[in-house]
Amino acid sequence: MALTELELETILPSIDWRAPLPVTTQSASGLGCRYCIAMRGLKGSVVGQLPQTDEEFERHMRDVHGRAAILEKRHADC
Ligand SMILES: [Zn+2]
Repeated sequence: MALTELELETILPSIDWRAPLPVTTQSASGLGCRYCIAMRGLKGSVVGQLPQTDEEFERHMRDVHGRAAILEKRHADC
């Protein structure tokens, strides 16, 4: 049985759960959701269906997980 968002946050507190995880394969790319990957895994065939923009990722995080996305870390120049 898959863990809930709250359980994932509790047992793996060092992961930025609400930040997108860029995923790139040979044929597609997208912004992976860490909750979904932890709960259901990630197949290469669905990478092209992942959110492509920050706005799409924010919508996914809000609609599917009821949480606000954290996006600023991706834009940090370091
Ligand atoms: Zn998700």
